[in-house]
This record gives sequence, C-alpha cells and structure tokens, in this order.
Amino acid sequence: MTIVGTSGLVLNEKLLFEHSDPGRKGYSLPKLDVPTAELPAELCREEISGFPELSEVDVVRHFTRLSTWNYGVDSGFYPLGSCTMKYNPKVNEVAARIPGLAFIHPATPSHLAQGSLELMYRLQVALAEISGFARVTLQPAAGAQGELAGMLVIRAWHEARGSKRTKVLIPDTAHGTNPATASLTGYDVVPIASDGVLTLEEVEAHMNDDVAALMVTNPNTLGLFETNIEAICKLVHERGGMVYCDGANLNALMGIARPGDMGIDVMHFNLHKTFSTPHGGGGPGSGPVGVTEELTPYLPGPGIEFDGESYCIEATRADSIGRMMAFHGNVGIMVRAYAYIRSMGGAGLKYASEMAVLNANYVRARLEGVYDLPFTSRSLHEVIFSDKDLEGDCHTLDVAKRLIDYGYHPPTIYFPLVVKGAIMIELTETESQEVLDEFCDAMIAIAGEARDNPELLHQAPIRSRIRRLDETTAARKPKLKWEKGA
Ligand SMILES: *Cc1c(COP(=O)(O)O)cnc(C)c1O
Repeated sequence: MTIVGTSGLVLNEKLLFEHSDPGRKGYSLPKLDVPTAELPAELCREEISGFPELSEVDVVRHFTRLSTWNYGVDSGFYPLGSCTMKYNPKVNEVAARIPGLAFIHPATPSHLAQGSLELMYRLQVALAEISGFARVTLQPAAGAQGELAGMLVIRAWHEARGSKRTKVLIPDTAHGTNPATASLTGYDVVPIASDGVLTLEEVEAHMNDDVAALMVTNPNTLGLFETNIEAICKLVHERGGMVYCDGANLNALMGIARPGDMGIDVMHFNLHKTFSTPHGGGGPGSGPVGVTEELTPYLPGPGIEFDGESYCIEATRADSIGRMMAFHGNVGIMVRAYAYIRSMGGAGLKYASEMAVLNANYVRARLEGVYDLPFTSRSLHEVIFSDKDLEGDCHTLDVAKRLIDYGYHPPTIYFPLVVKGAIMIELTETESQEVLDEFCDAMIAIAGEARDNPELLHQAPIRSRIRRLDETTAARKPKLKWEKGA
C-alpha cells in the first residue's frame, strides 16, 4: 500500500481537522474552518476518469530514471558545432543562488534592488568592452530573439531617415535563424554565395539602394574568419546599409578581436554559448545585443543606468523599438554570465578563446586525411569535415549514430548547408587533450569500420536504449498528445 502520495492517500479529515475524539487527553483542538469547494455543481466531475493514478514516489522515480538517460555537458563531451557546449562552471550556480539575487521580485523599487541593478549594469559594460560596442541591452532571451531585436533596431534607423529599403543580404553559410529574422522583420532575403569566406566583389555585386543590411557571422559557420570584414563593412556603409553580426561564434574572438572595431553596427551575444550559462532546452537563454553609438536611441528598453551614485532603470527612449521581454529579461542567466566573466578576467577570456581555437586545430590535424576537409584554410573555434572519403556507402548520419555507441554526443551534421555531408565539430576550450584524443581515436575507428564493416555503421547505434529512429516521420508527423495505451 502507498502511504505517501497525492492520490494514493485520502486524508482523514475527521482526525486531522476536528476535535472529534472525546477520549483525547491533554489537548483540545478548536474546530478548523476548512473551506469547501463552491464550484457550480454542473462543472464538478462525479469521478475522475482517464488520468494515470500514480503516487508521488512513483512519479519521482520515473523522472529521476529518465533524467539519467539524458546526456548533458556534465555527463560527457559534447562536440555540437556552432552551439559552443562548453562546461558550465559550478561557481556560476553558486552565484545565481545567492538569495538576494535569486529571490528578488522583478518589480522591487530600484533603491531596494541596487545589487541586482549593479550586476546588470556591470554586465552591460563588460559585454560592451569585450565586443567594442557603445551600448548593450540585456533584454532578449535567446540569440534568435537578439537577432530580431537587432534587426528591428536597424529597421527603425532606416525608417527614421525616411529610407524604404526592402532587402537583406545573407551569405549561404548562415544559420537558419538569420533569414528567419530578416523575414520576421519584414525584409526580403537575398542569399549571397561565399567561397568559404565572403568576398568584397560578391557583396559589391549585390549591394544597392534596396539593401537595408548585410547579416554576417564572424567567424562564420565554417569556422573561418571573415578576412574581408573591414572592407565589406565600409562598402555597405558607403551604400547606405548597416551590418548585423551574428555573434554566436564569439568564443573564437574574446580578448583577441572586437566586432565593434571591425565596423559591425549590431551584434547579439549568446550568453548560453560564449559565457558558459546553461542551454535550457529553448528555455532560459539570454541574447544581449550590442550597438554602435548611432543606433543607441533605438535599443529596446529599459536598460540599466548609473547616475554616478546609484543604479536605476532608464527612462523609456522616445525612439526605442520597445520591450523584448517582461521586466529585465532572464536575470538568473545574467548572474551566471557575470560570474563567469569575473572569475575568468580579461586574460582568462582571451586564453579561453585561444584554447578553443587550438583545440579545433588539434582535432583538425589529427583527423586530416581520415575525413575530407572541404576547406583548407586554418580553422578558428570549430572545424568542418565531410563524408566524401568514407567507404562502404557510409554517410555522415552513420558516423553520428555510431559516435553514440562510443559514448559521445554526435556533432552537428548536414550544416552548414554549403558543405555536402557536413560534420561540424566544436571542441571548446574546456576539454582536455585526453578527451580530444579519445574522441579522435573513436572518429578514426569509425572510418575504419566504414571500410571493414559498413553494416555496423548502417545499424548504429547498437548500444543505446533506443536504436535508430525514423527521424523523418518524427519530424513530419509528430505525436504531440498523450494517448492512452500509446
Ligand atoms: C545558436 C546560433 C543561433 C541562435 O541562437 P539561439 O540562442 O539558439 O537562439 C544563431 N546563429 C548561430 C550561428 C548559432 O550558432
């Protein structure tokens, strides 16, 4: 019999709430006024039907067991390219749990919230310094929402000058959120071809009076630094456009180069990538946006100000694009990112970027000749291979599935789209040489299996709880409702 639980145990009201035992000695209980339900009778069920009947302990065990099936950066190496799955230091969590920061109500008056406001202000300043921008908003809740905020700022700037430009240039290596954002902001997307990196000629050929902005990622999703970026920004500006930078790959640049100095006008940061905060299943992310002085009036508001004595919430700017989030955004994530920046320091952040780049080039060097390298120039923080040289009719998907058998989370695959059969590996600075060597050994062993035992790769994963799924059907016909007996 279950003796704890929400449905298993029916409380004996008489015993608990009423002094109904005339034989009781010593204590007497006053009669409690237990509220009774006053729902209209026709709305009340006579009996509960169809709900699973489980006790609390059964539910806790079920979810605890499921959580151990999960794979996260705390359980193993996670080379998911473009996502920067670096280790999240536990000191960030300690800081985020400081009661004064964790439990403060977002509507607390400024004079009682000086600590939180100071932390947000200092984070704005730190991000501005790292990136070379004049101002930073912390509001957006994800990189993608930062893109939207940034592109709305660019649109507001154009509209303020009476410009009716309708197009945005986006290179073919871009992450899917870039064209989605341009489209959400009301622009038509003009894809431009790159050969690894953007050339000035290609941008020039497309840059005309209809183009509001160029959206560029630097380093790009091939892990290559956009070497022509300064000249490209100059050209776009001369022709009346703005340059948006997708900052998802900032982990390659911290302390080394600043997008603001390259001529970029707007950039988002992904705190859950570069600044070691959790990637929360699409949940508690944070995508601050930095802008040049010229674009400051259009930033979403309100931000945090310092008047020389105390911290306060800015007055709404007349030309602001408005709010992106309720209150200040995901403050708990900001605390973690700030803890990371302060514990690393300027030199530590630079060292992190250098090690991220070194690790990518180490793996590149170890796997060169085993897997095809579509681009020969040196990598920054991530490295792209392809399945071109794999034997036994084996493809990128087979390699990714087989890595699960070796205990690794698969890398990003089939992205960027410009590389056929792309295998996109991002190591980050937080992995040791031993981890990288074991991973490379597994990748080399898998290439050998493709040659000697291709059927094994086609069947993989064979050691996981669930074997290869029909991902196409799962994506096309998702089951989104609980079905009895399913
Ligand atoms: C992750 C990523 C994004 C989107 O960021 P989210 O924080 O996931 O919304 C955009 N562009 C690139 C290149 C990325 O890697």
